[in-house]
Amino acid sequence: MRIDLHTHTSPRSPCSSIDPLELVREAGRRRLDGICLTEHQVLWQPQEVESLAQGARIKIFRGNEFTTNQGDVLVFGYEEDVKELLTIQELRDQVRAAGGFMIAAHPFRGFKTFGVGQLKMNLEQA
Ligand SMILES: [Zn+2]
Repeated sequence: MRIDLHTHTSPRSPCSSIDPLELVREAGRRRLDGICLTEHQVLWQPQEVESLAQGARIKIFRGNEFTTNQGDVLVFGYEEDVKELLTIQELRDQVRAAGGFMIAAHPFRGFKTFGVGQLKMNLEQA
């Protein structure tokens, strides 16, 4: 299955301008099997996703994107709707306790506490 695990929609995420229904249609046109809605610090409610999935040809999953001191992190299987900035350790502990998992959203964009150049790695090493 091909699933886009990192999507944002408007107005829930300020970085996005796409309407949720248009995202679902576009994902179907691009022959994806599913998408995961990972808004910034906003978790879609199950009934909202069910409504969005009515008549859709793709699967729609729920996730979240949290801002941490180490950058943005995609979180799956964690139902808390946290609004404040967390440390990566706090988030890891909470997600692990809930049985979820995390993925760095854009690991080479840079971080709040240090620049990506300080990693001193090339792309292959990273
Ligand atoms: Zn994102």
